[in-house]
Amino acid sequence: MTKAISYAAHDPKSPLSPFTFERREVGANDVQIEILYCGVCHSDLHQARDEWGNSTFPMVPGHEIVGRVTQVGSHVKKFKAGDLAGVGCLVDSCGTCPDCAEGLEQFCNQSVFTYNSPDKQSPGQSTYGGYSNLIVVDERFTLKISDKLNLAATAPLLCAGITTYSPLRHWNVGPGQKVGIVGLGGLGHMGVKFAKAFGAHTVLFTTSPSKVEDAKRLGADEVVISKDAAQMQQHALSFDFILNTVAAPHDLDQFMGLLKRDGSMCLVGVPDSPHPSPSVANLIFKRRKLAGSLIGGIKETQEMLDFCAEHNITSDIELIPIQEINTAFERILKSDVKYRFVIDIASLKQAA
Ligand code: NAP
Ligand code: ZN
Repeated sequence: MTKAISYAAHDPKSPLSPFTFERREVGANDVQIEILYCGVCHSDLHQARDEWGNSTFPMVPGHEIVGRVTQVGSHVKKFKAGDLAGVGCLVDSCGTCPDCAEGLEQFCNQSVFTYNSPDKQSPGQSTYGGYSNLIVVDERFTLKISDKLNLAATAPLLCAGITTYSPLRHWNVGPGQKVGIVGLGGLGHMGVKFAKAFGAHTVLFTTSPSKVEDAKRLGADEVVISKDAAQMQQHALSFDFILNTVAAPHDLDQFMGLLKRDGSMCLVGVPDSPHPSPSVANLIFKRRKLAGSLIGGIKETQEMLDFCAEHNITSDIELIPIQEINTAFERILKSDVKYRFVIDIASLKQAA
């Protein structure tokens, strides 16, 4: 066992604070990683505050992990000490069900999330995530990270990146299509970059007029203030696909009405309380679809990382010491993040 230092939520109401725990011994198939950077996802905040009602404490959040391999087990083939490596939202799955066989481990009924999941390898304990200095993960769930990209800005690809890349690929977004991204936060800004890189005419919907110029710089061809009904009306019946990343309950009909016949809107935001029910008429009269998507499998996550290395795509980040995590959570709640906080894990040593 190796002692790990971290920041943890101890209950839904208190600020995150220092916490020490043990990581398991490196098994034959395991990779041990010294964590260098970890992104801060809105899901970390939802779970630290038990907004989804499934939290266990203490909780060490963090599923946008990049670092350097320090040790590998005897059966490990893909990694050696000194390599860069990444870990996203998943650390295990059954490996045999139809979802796993198709490389869609995120849908496996026995998948284990990087934190706040029962830890099969350490029974009785929860998995602990990346707001910590080291992690031990099965090689199958460890990703190769290119040294071509800024490492801190690569961390958010492990969740915000794959969660937007996967649905844009699944719905075959590409040239000749008009595609909307709703919300310019961690996920949304990656959605804009990918939709643009895939060749679509990309429109960003935001509630924040102060983000218009940034959205254009990030790749949006047009920006629409979603609270402005007149601006919204100009885009009625014109979209092939809309990816909605908003983390709060809101009126979905204002976006459904912008889809063409047979168009789809995919939700990836997971608000703490339900959206108002969408209008059935909006769906049936134009045969529109309202869908959802969950992160992405390991194979597709590696494909996305390789695509980013090839096309020089990273996240726009604000690097913070771990001591500022509670302020960062408050700023995320105010939609004041440009466009992903990333924790410099070196700062943990000062806290220990
Ligand atoms: P984030 O950085 O906080 O971004 C969310 C954005 O939504 C905000 O920046 C804001 O953009 C917009 N927004 C916030 N409140 C709003 C409101 N009341 N009405 C309309 N727009 C609002 O969050 P994130 O890290 O990107 O995560 C987004 C959501 O996806 C969270 O619920 C998270 O848990 C979920 N998530 C899901 C998956 C999955 O696999 N499906 C994976 C990761 C995260 P503007 O200022 O531009 O309006
Ligand atoms: Zn996430």
